[in-house]
Amino acid sequence: MAVPEKTLFDVERVRADFPILKREIRPGVPLTYLDSTATAQKPRQVIDVMDTFYRRSNANIHRGVHTLAEEATAMYEKGREQVASFINAQSARQVVFTRNTTESINLVAYTWARANLKSGDMIVLTEMEHHSNLIPWQLLAQARGLRLEFVPVTDDYLFDMDAYRELLALEPKLIAFTHMSNVLGTITPAAEIIRLAHEAGALTLLDGAQSVPHLPVDVQSLDVDFLAFSAHKMVGPSGVGVLYGKLPLLEAMPPFLGGGDMIKTVHLRTFSTNEVPYKFEAGTPAIAEAIGFGVAAEYLANIGMDAIAAYEHEMTEYALERLAEIPGVTVFGPSAEHKGGVASFVMDGVHPHDVAQILDHDGIAVRAGHHCAQPLHEKYGITATTRASFYIYNTRADVDKLVEGIYKVKEIFG
Ligand code: PLP
Repeated sequence: MAVPEKTLFDVERVRADFPILKREIRPGVPLTYLDSTATAQKPRQVIDVMDTFYRRSNANIHRGVHTLAEEATAMYEKGREQVASFINAQSARQVVFTRNTTESINLVAYTWARANLKSGDMIVLTEMEHHSNLIPWQLLAQARGLRLEFVPVTDDYLFDMDAYRELLALEPKLIAFTHMSNVLGTITPAAEIIRLAHEAGALTLLDGAQSVPHLPVDVQSLDVDFLAFSAHKMVGPSGVGVLYGKLPLLEAMPPFLGGGDMIKTVHLRTFSTNEVPYKFEAGTPAIAEAIGFGVAAEYLANIGMDAIAAYEHEMTEYALERLAEIPGVTVFGPSAEHKGGVASFVMDGVHPHDVAQILDHDGIAVRAGHHCAQPLHEKYGITATTRASFYIYNTRADVDKLVEGIYKVKEIFG
């Protein structure tokens, strides 16, 4: 899909919205930010709305009648509406604010799963899960005697549909899977996986930490039961994430954390729960962050998620082509057709951390390590990769800098 940058959106205008991109890492060394898979940078629109909130309207929400409390509540709930609209939820009530993807997945593990699963029941995950979609289920499996099974990654780094169909025949209760691997970049065929799960009588939880920021994700057309994602990976602030759920499921689930706001009535020995989504939002939430999240979602929607996906696809193709030219570099992941804007690689004879450190000298920010996907690295017999990742503000020039930097690493290591 070789679409010229300009026809998709004006990348230079987007870049101008991100103050941090003007930063020099050292005098004369500009920042080349290639670590958006870990966290994305923030546009002035998000920074400004949070700044304005604190300067003009800061108050606690839902429990005051004064003007500031009403303004804060309205802004917080507007954030929820904006995020709900971004994923095409039928109702904003289906958007529960959490701290992040990790907390959203834990919420499902501690509430829906504890209420509905019993010893011997099976949950299906994949080999390419981030630890946040692995450990909550391991903890639950240990506590409840559940069985965990894993859809393998194929030799060409894809979700193994045949193995999945075989696992479905064993009647699992839940399929919890990533929509986009943060290491391989593999985009899983979520709609098909969900359709087959439902046919087999299983519910689905989609880890959208990497897909919601980069692809159009429509919860109604996917028909997904639960979706988890984080604001900070989609140009929003850290400290806030979402659990989307189908309303009847959320309504039937017991609460997660107990405390203020999640209750309707309280007596010394009993309480009744508040309505969804407040039932799951105990205590004072991340108010400014939810407001910033709404603006971040709107910012991406204004560019257009189809345009963003096409732009990143084009850049990923270019990056894979350029990296393939470098002798001794191995990139893990499928062809660009099935891949988001992530390039995790190893270099012969150089530790991934050394690669990242040398690139940093030239202002190039990449990540090195297991990227919270240790089992996946184990599968390939490695402990770490260096990962470059791309977003709306990156350009081909950034890819070129990365490639130049890698040649420098080669020179240094002979
Ligand atoms: N899932 C995937 C695929 C991720 O890439 C990440 C973070 O990198 C997470 C889950 C966890 O996100 P958070 O740390 O925001 O909870």
